[in-house]
Amino acid sequence: MTELLFRADPYLRDCDARVVAVNDRGGVILDRTVFYATAGGQPGDAGTLEVPGLGALPIATTIYDDGKHVVHVVEGGASPLPEPGAEAHAALDWERRYRHMRAHTALHLLCALVKFPVTGGQIAADGGRLDFDIADPSAVSREMLESEINRLIAEDHPVAEQWISEADLAANPGLVRTMSVKPPTGSGRVRLVAIGEGGGIDLQPCGGTHVRRTGEIGRVTVAKPESKGRQNRRIRLSLA
Ligand SMILES: [Zn+2]
Repeated sequence: MTELLFRADPYLRDCDARVVAVNDRGGVILDRTVFYATAGGQPGDAGTLEVPGLGALPIATTIYDDGKHVVHVVEGGASPLPEPGAEAHAALDWERRYRHMRAHTALHLLCALVKFPVTGGQIAADGGRLDFDIADPSAVSREMLESEINRLIAEDHPVAEQWISEADLAANPGLVRTMSVKPPTGSGRVRLVAIGEGGGIDLQPCGGTHVRRTGEIGRVTVAKPESKGRQNRRIRLSLA
């Protein structure tokens, strides 16, 4: 299993690693990585993989192969690809990833403000969206959301992680806000992301990458909620 260095430190931009395997679709598996693989609505990272003798291979995206292995997808299936055992230096397109971290953390704040079930979501470099199951569209006001989310950002709340057992999560189903994304379980414990002291603003299972403090998000704008189906309302936000 690939060691996920971004779990302990999402601000790591590069790392040395060793090539474990190369698949037949131009995907490189390393023993450790700073690259986040597509999951939970957050896109996989792009960047470069520098291999002695091969130069800097462009990485178009990063995905999970079988749920365990992080696969760095070489752009255009460039060849030759590195051999297993080769040393490599993995470096993120940090500007893009940092925008994902800001947008992702902003969506947690949106989720905290809109007290309805989440049915879907997507993060991008310029912002993100969440879909909510809301019967009455007048229950959410664009102006109120934009002003409240920017207040929470300006208050510069801490963003931290907590771990609980799967049994404790099962006993507190209210912690799971997103019906469309299963919490990252399987190892006996679950990672929670806590915004504000003790998770007072938002507390929910999440395996993504976030900024350390809400102030890093910067100002956001919130678009008018769109109807996506009878009860589904899509709310988009954009980074400044
Ligand atoms: Zn998250």
